[in-house]
Amino acid sequence: MSLKASEPVSETSLGIYIHIPFCLKKCNYCDFLSFLLPCRDRVADYILGLKKELELAAPQLKGAKVISVYIGGGTPSLLAAQSLKDILTAVQQHFSLWEKTEVTVEANPGTIFGEKLAEMAAMGVNRLSIGVQSFDNRLLAAMGRVHTAEEAVEAFCMARREGFSNINIDLIYGLPGQTLENWRKTLYEVVELGPEHVSAYGLTLEKGTPWGNLYSQGELQLVDEDTWVRMHDLTMQVLPQAGLMQYELSNYAKPGFESLHNLGYWYRRPYIGVGLGASSFLNETRSKNHTRYEEYFKSLKMNKLPVAEEERITREEAMSETMFLGLRTVKGVNCLEFKRRFGVSIEEAFPVVNRLAKKGVLERNPPWLRLNPGYYGVSNEVFLEFV
Ligand code: SF4
Repeated sequence: MSLKASEPVSETSLGIYIHIPFCLKKCNYCDFLSFLLPCRDRVADYILGLKKELELAAPQLKGAKVISVYIGGGTPSLLAAQSLKDILTAVQQHFSLWEKTEVTVEANPGTIFGEKLAEMAAMGVNRLSIGVQSFDNRLLAAMGRVHTAEEAVEAFCMARREGFSNINIDLIYGLPGQTLENWRKTLYEVVELGPEHVSAYGLTLEKGTPWGNLYSQGELQLVDEDTWVRMHDLTMQVLPQAGLMQYELSNYAKPGFESLHNLGYWYRRPYIGVGLGASSFLNETRSKNHTRYEEYFKSLKMNKLPVAEEERITREEAMSETMFLGLRTVKGVNCLEFKRRFGVSIEEAFPVVNRLAKKGVLERNPPWLRLNPGYYGVSNEVFLEFV
């Protein structure tokens, strides 16, 4: 984080992201910062590091109210319940939470069991995000996931039994070899389970991952563009029929269960990221932590926040971000808020808006300006107009 002591955070609501970079096995498509689960001592040192970082970050964030805490990874559910509790206790010690603070932990099937779930609920975790990805065992194996579809169902049912009433299921579509019918089946399985929230992202291939490498060697075939768009459209049809309303391009929730943490990213609310490689956004500055243990711990030992890089966002960049992040949400961008914040109207800042609105790509519903849902499948092309 880049704040100076003289520069307190002006905004009152804050998100906290805590990164746990450990996994049982690396999935074939994954380029998140994660490593194989190290020995116990190493994990214990890492938790101590997180606690120290939270302590160092807190003085500059005194006035802020934490509206969401998100423990992600990696596979946070690999941690012992006591470790998760230590992290949350440190958050509560140093920051001011409110009674409705959303506290999410990411969990992978096969790594959560009844007792751990019960302890998580008791320590204040009120939202579970389960990385299911697909209900097809053949695809799960190809992705390199460590669990089966049956284990995913079991994880969900256990979480319900232990009292979790706010569960997200993560899905990925557009997997190599996946058909539209296969995706439909996965969607129906999700509907059957009845989670409060679903995140359904199209596969993106990243360089340096096993799948990225196979693709660049011409040895991995992706679904064609038409099928990809049809999978996206099918998601938009099936989930809302089950009461999971779309509120962002890739996110669906039962009313009242939209993720506060994720909304914070799209509406550019301030957040801190704690842990290896975590990102923060405070006072129009984006920063990123060290990604190597040695540098991360060296900073902490010197009582310094482990920031590796930071970038002050210019006014023009802030306007662009407001557009391409806000247009991801179904509500869109609040035009009045934009004018209040930047002193110019959206049309003055981005004359292209008039043309896009005339073509029906953007829709005006004062004070909101939103992306026409018919263009969600090609949203990236529209967002390029604002970069
Ligand atoms: S479990 Fe998640 S973070 Fe870990 S390797 Fe797989 S996709 Fe990456």
